[in-house]
Amino acid sequence: MTEETSSKGTGSGTREGSLSKPTRHPVAWREPGYFDEDKLVHELERVYDLCHGCRRCFSLCNSFPLLFDAIDASPSGELDGVDRKVFWEVADHCYLCDMCYLSKCPYVPPHPWNIDFPHLMLQAKAVKFRKGGTRARDRILSSTDMVGTLAGIPVVSQIVNKVNRTAFGRRMLEWRRWWHRGTTWSRRSRRAH
Ligand code: SF4
Ligand code: SF4
Repeated sequence: MTEETSSKGTGSGTREGSLSKPTRHPVAWREPGYFDEDKLVHELERVYDLCHGCRRCFSLCNSFPLLFDAIDASPSGELDGVDRKVFWEVADHCYLCDMCYLSKCPYVPPHPWNIDFPHLMLQAKAVKFRKGGTRARDRILSSTDMVGTLAGIPVVSQIVNKVNRTAFGRRMLEWRRWWHRGTTWSRRSRRAH
């Protein structure tokens, strides 16, 4: 790690934010070390710490508020006080939409801080998957091909449509909407206090 990339300060020669066109490096999944957990955790520490100092992406998804809340609640108020389990939870909440990279982060390459948050989350997911720590639910949800194929099977879509037309199905949908509104609202009001 260079002095520039390890420092939160802008330091000499490091610009605050990048005005250059982003350089997207390919996912290095064939490189030796891609699945090295120690190296990954070291990189997560570096990037999470920089994100903690920046916080620009707090509203984009659940990953960032989860990380920032955990840091704020830690005894030191810094990343070193955060349980490593949270590192993986942050990656679990990332659904790889790429918004933080495309629309928010001024520290993407060629900036020397070299932050590609979605690619890092992808790596964390890959390492976790290889360790066998991925739940069936996540495997199914991330397999969009499979979900699309299942939903496209006529008998499956007919059953789903029929259930939705019953009083029970409608109540379940209503309940789900109500519950989602309630949890979103309570999360917002917790953040506001
Ligand atoms: S890529 Fe992941 S971390 Fe970034 S905004 Fe999307 S969900 Fe959040
Ligand atoms: S991804 Fe970039 S913009 Fe978003 S919080 Fe981290 S450092 Fe800030």
